[in-house]
Amino acid sequence: MPVYKAPVGDTLFLLNDVFDFQRYSNLPRFSEAPIDVVEAVLSEGGKFAEEVLQPLNLPGDREGCRRLPDGSVVTPKGFKEAYKAFVDGGWVGISASAEYGGQGLPHFLGVALSEYTIAANQAFAMYPGLTNGATAALQVHGAPALKSRYLPKLSTGEWTGTMNLTEPHCGTDLGLIKTRAVKQEDGSYAISGQKIFISSGEHDLADNIIHLVLARIEGAPAGVKGISLFLAPKILVNDDGSLGARNGVACGSIEHKMGIHANSTCVMNFDGAKGWLVGEENRGLPAMFVMMNGARLGVAVQGLAQSEVAYQNAAAYAKERLQGRSLSGAKTPEKAADPIIVHPDVRRMLMEIRAFNEAARALMVWAALSEDEALGSPDPAARQAADDRLGLLTPVLKGVFTDVGFANAVKAQQVLGGHGYISEWGMEQFVRDARITMIYEGANGIQALDLVGRKLPKDGGRAATAFFGEISGFLAQNKEDAALAPYLAPLKGVVGQLQQATMWLMQNAIKNPDNAGAASTDYMHLFGLTALGYMWARIVKAVLARQAAGTSNEALDAKLALAKFYNARMLPEGGAHLARISSGAETLMALPAAAF
Ligand SMILES: Cc1cc2nc3c(=O)[nH]c(=O)nc-3n(C[C@H](O)[C@H](O)[C@H](O)COP(=O)(O)OP(=O)(O)OC[C@H]3O[C@@H](n4cnc5c(N)ncnc54)[C@H](O)[C@@H]3O)c2cc1C
Repeated sequence: MPVYKAPVGDTLFLLNDVFDFQRYSNLPRFSEAPIDVVEAVLSEGGKFAEEVLQPLNLPGDREGCRRLPDGSVVTPKGFKEAYKAFVDGGWVGISASAEYGGQGLPHFLGVALSEYTIAANQAFAMYPGLTNGATAALQVHGAPALKSRYLPKLSTGEWTGTMNLTEPHCGTDLGLIKTRAVKQEDGSYAISGQKIFISSGEHDLADNIIHLVLARIEGAPAGVKGISLFLAPKILVNDDGSLGARNGVACGSIEHKMGIHANSTCVMNFDGAKGWLVGEENRGLPAMFVMMNGARLGVAVQGLAQSEVAYQNAAAYAKERLQGRSLSGAKTPEKAADPIIVHPDVRRMLMEIRAFNEAARALMVWAALSEDEALGSPDPAARQAADDRLGLLTPVLKGVFTDVGFANAVKAQQVLGGHGYISEWGMEQFVRDARITMIYEGANGIQALDLVGRKLPKDGGRAATAFFGEISGFLAQNKEDAALAPYLAPLKGVVGQLQQATMWLMQNAIKNPDNAGAASTDYMHLFGLTALGYMWARIVKAVLARQAAGTSNEALDAKLALAKFYNARMLPEGGAHLARISSGAETLMALPAAAF
């Protein structure tokens, strides 16, 4: 059976030593969350993930969700009880507004905790994850009456939320949406149409499911400018808050799919379902983007979480499995063979995964703290800067964490050899579950285009300029630090490559837009490599400070070893990305479509 231990100590190290947690104490939600409270919440949440959610992961995958003839959906054994305990423990609403019954704790805490719940059980974590997204969208764009009716139960997780965008003919290109909304005399809308692939669309975990649905009001302009956002509950809610009649929305079927079997992926049929407008008519996409941006970060965390749990199981296996002898002489001569951890190639796989995981966790925490700053800083300039950073990093985190997270799950599976392919070890489930993260919430190709086409040029390149300024400021500030210097030179190199790539895009994308498309995925990965390199530099600075203050332990030594490994063996990929980017679109576009 697979194992999982929540990396609470590492999260705390990042908060205390790398990001100077005290710096954020001026933010409103942080007065409720001094570091000892944060530590207690992370530890308890980690324990819940390890003890309640992780044991349900493998059996939940085997059993999957079942749709009954009446359209109801049954989740795997144990999920209902675990979900109730999750709600009762206040975990769903950890970062939801206290005004509506949430815990009102900082956003970063919800994100950090979600790594643990996802690593323990991704399929389970999606039910509260989507609920949090729906809560956030309603909080920002809902009319007061909608908020007071739905937010209290969504915030606590007593009701769950969904996101209904995709239709059979319409995935990435939301301008093609056909679902219709017809205005009724009472001000509500009758929504009709079919949505597919709707995560958590129907299940037995909560009394009500609140669907956020994109649809087109009669007579609306074509394309994305004619899309509106609606709230349509599974069960109508009476004025006194009690549950009323069943609404005209039902699960037509559930998809049979590669992974996340314990999360119900539903075809949802809206048949004149009663819905209410969220935000303004024809401005549905910006409103839905609150949910989508949150979900993109959530999916990024899924990439990291799968990489972490796969690593933990592969590392444990590599220390136990005896095969062959070390090339430099037997390490355990008393045994029939050495453990495979002695082999450089096995270490390569483990080191690559862990060097990613620790820096990715840092980048995730930094992005999540930026969210708190963007929403709560008393200083408008700090709010703006944090919002810029979060916006720029969102496609990078989503695209890079999930591409690499999946690749890492495969690498970890490889460490187990044939046993990695056998179900009982759990590794093949990590691979299957991680695979979807590259596809949903905007396929990764779309994330790369978002980065290159929207986030880089936005506001005259303000966010990107600030990002480069942040790193060059760090390099300048620390240039006299002899202990840190060997770690900074490689970072300087990759920043230079990213700057060259950015310049190349500025000069060549306008000439031929296909150059931007052809460069986008490599650019996103070069950006990720650089951002993770910067995280390693900050981690090393924190480690050296701790060591200089007299702390000495294996965990700190390991971080230095991982940083050296990252710089020596992973950063060189920057050169290949730059070479591919500057080769342009020509070779990609050379064949006519008919030749494929
Ligand atoms: C398990 C699962 C759960 C899901 N959950 C939800 C959910 O809860 N709610 C919801 O609304 N949807 C959900 N989805 C749908 C998911 O978000 C879409 O599958 C995804 O957005 C991609 O859309 P598509 O499948 O139609 O692919 P397409 O849009 O057809 O794209 C196919 C490929 O073409 C590429 N591509 C498309 N357009 C462009 C372009 N302009 N430039 C470059 N490349 C392009 C894409 O990157 C992709 O690789 C889920 C899907 C799955 C499988």
